[in-house]
Amino acid sequence: MIQTDVVIVGAGPCGLFQVFELGLLGLKAEVVDSIRQAGGQCIELYPDKPIYDIPGIPVCTGEELVERLMKQIEPFECGMHLGEEVTEVEPEGDTFIVKTSAGTTFQSKAVVIAGGVGSFQPRPLRAAGVDEFPACVHYRIKDPGRFEDRNVVILGGGDSALDWVLELVGIARRVALVHRRDAYRAVDASVATMREFVRAGRMDLFENAKVTKLEGRNGVLESVIVTDKDGKSTSVVAEHALVFFGLAPKLGPIANWGLDINRKTINVDAERFETSTPGIYAVGDINQYPGKKKLILCGFHEAALAAFAIKQRLEPGKKVHLQYTTTSPIMHERLGVHPEDDE
Ligand code: FAD
Repeated sequence: MIQTDVVIVGAGPCGLFQVFELGLLGLKAEVVDSIRQAGGQCIELYPDKPIYDIPGIPVCTGEELVERLMKQIEPFECGMHLGEEVTEVEPEGDTFIVKTSAGTTFQSKAVVIAGGVGSFQPRPLRAAGVDEFPACVHYRIKDPGRFEDRNVVILGGGDSALDWVLELVGIARRVALVHRRDAYRAVDASVATMREFVRAGRMDLFENAKVTKLEGRNGVLESVIVTDKDGKSTSVVAEHALVFFGLAPKLGPIANWGLDINRKTINVDAERFETSTPGIYAVGDINQYPGKKKLILCGFHEAALAAFAIKQRLEPGKKVHLQYTTTSPIMHERLGVHPEDDE
């Protein structure tokens, strides 16, 4: 069991900045996110789009903002647990026992929920028979070796779908790509290579088409029916279907933690950003209070005030002093800076 001051649920921009604000007050954090990369919406939804309203940074992309935040929190050496969903948060005495889908357990003195619009989950394939072949329909690939010399159908038109096409042509017996449009949301070079493979007869391509049915026996997939926009159906031999329809947010387990929830958001007070359960705080897009705006800079402010509230909770009766980073001993110690050297 990992002991810590604070578990932060969500590694979006607000969860990451929460690490910094807690670190400034000498508090150690562990961050958990269900996706495999830190950055939340900035990375999942708009890594290449410009953001113009981060104070002091006239413009940066979603990805650049996350890189900068990761650099900014480096000195505080938080634990980062990616690809794990927080499933349970249970009070135990003055602490909380926090459990994840990967079996990690934390005991923490406080919890900050920075869950944004929820945990990102793969969008499921909806087609007749899909529930009969759970072992043959894949949304995440852990072991590409299992597709060696198998017939594989890949669904989607984004980078993940195209990356797996390029990886599996030559490894799988046959690859077919099925995309509901003929334009792709993937790197141009990947699309060009894929089209080259099709021209060379190394794979099959179905554009403006959908998989409408899965067929097989005893849970073993044998083929899929691909239907184009004119209603024409083709049977394609496939032992595995790899589905990359993108990720959709779901409030998920947070809804079961006994908090005061208001239409997929958590009610907090606007002074401490504490939820209806003392010791559990919520910052960023997931919280709700009068005047709430779902903006990154608002989430940063919330993270600063939540950190002070947590410090006060952990050290009752002691005044929590405001520290400017310019003169903060913790900051200097963590960055290895000796201000007297500049004098
Ligand atoms: P998120 O970024 O949503 O991150 C939450 C994280 O929590 C996710 O990674 C999720 O997987 C994780 N999570 C949830 N539940 C669990 C769980 N149970 N266990 C583990 N992990 C969990 N804002 C601006 O200020 N300026 C802009 O210009 C701007 N442009 C935008 C453009 C687009 C296209 C979009 C979609 C949004 C934009 N926003 C912008 C909004 C901004 O991205 C959000 O306000 C911000 O991402 C919220 O950050 P967050 O950390 O609260 O949540």
